Amino acid sequence: MNTPERYVLLNPGPVTLTDSVRAALAGRDMCHREQAFSDLMTEVRQQLLDVYETAVADWTSVLITGSGTAAVESMISSLVQSPNQSLVCANGVYGERMTTMLQRAGKAPIQVRSEWQDDIDFAEVENRLRQHNSIKYVIAVHHETTTGRINDLDRLAELCVKYDKRMLVDAVSSFGGERVDFENWPLDAVAATANKCLHGVPGIAFVVVRRPCVQDKTCASSLYLDLATNFAAQEGGLPAFTPAIQSMYALHQALCELHDGGGWSSRHDMYRQRTLRVTEGLTGLGIAPLLPSPTVRSAVLTAYRLPEALDYETISTPLQKERIIIYAGQKQLEKIIFRIAVMGDLDDHDFEKLFRVLRNVL
Ligand SMILES: *Cc1c(COP(=O)(O)O)cnc(C)c1O
Repeated sequence: MNTPERYVLLNPGPVTLTDSVRAALAGRDMCHREQAFSDLMTEVRQQLLDVYETAVADWTSVLITGSGTAAVESMISSLVQSPNQSLVCANGVYGERMTTMLQRAGKAPIQVRSEWQDDIDFAEVENRLRQHNSIKYVIAVHHETTTGRINDLDRLAELCVKYDKRMLVDAVSSFGGERVDFENWPLDAVAATANKCLHGVPGIAFVVVRRPCVQDKTCASSLYLDLATNFAAQEGGLPAFTPAIQSMYALHQALCELHDGGGWSSRHDMYRQRTLRVTEGLTGLGIAPLLPSPTVRSAVLTAYRLPEALDYETISTPLQKERIIIYAGQKQLEKIIFRIAVMGDLDDHDFEKLFRVLRNVL
């Protein structure tokens, strides 16, 4: 098989693959009703629990065939039962998207919205928790990829404990690369995907969830995304629907590599070093991060202000010619920022090339 040309993906997933993950994609033809697939699925579900050493008796993982959004929608539309039963903290595209999902499911949440460059509005969250007894779940994005902010879930968790609420978290762009505190946050479920910090390919997403939450019948409006149905089928060894089998091969290999490389904390450290390097390099070229405080920025992705008088294409096009892909801002940030993620199989030369091209542009 010919190896395709190497692309350096600095977008927030999919990522530049290791050769071994790419090779895994070309595994043997397999039916998902073979015992071999059942074994593979069971192993991958366990590997996902092992990422954060959460493999205690009351947690499980449920695989969903689809992108990260499918897992998030499966999580919240299966667990939230009714309108006003949840509070969504929204300070970016992905928080707001969860509000839309629940509205569409006829389970509109109470939303506490902040400006995208701002922190979660904790004072307002506390007001709402005090006012509304109906709230059972507090829903938040861990790493808001819109701006590269790590939301302060320690602080949110404290509020949830104080008011006796459970947390549902979109960790799509942080699972495997940032600290997710399964011990101290009052979590009921966390949704994520194969093709971001785990370095797999698109096609499989998943929800890590407390077993009691999926053991009863849920009230999901969707058949395909019903968490309890998928859980029951997977526990029985047969997926409810045809899974992305080749993505499963790749995810299995990627999770082995995460484990062999020292787990999520080593990967986090590696991302930190890369991000430090990129931020220093860009600062040297007069390009500043969007979020001034380094402590709120993720290790995974940083948003940078576009230099005055330069639009996104002026920067991204010459990079693309060199097979380096960066990421534009969304909606109101489209003209203001660009984003660089550091996930995937990258090396020093990739960053040297990034700086060289940018220096020429500027
Ligand atoms: C990438 C992402 C998603 C969903 O992504 P898909 O495009 O559906 O895979 C959801 N939430 C966050 C925070 C993300 O970064």
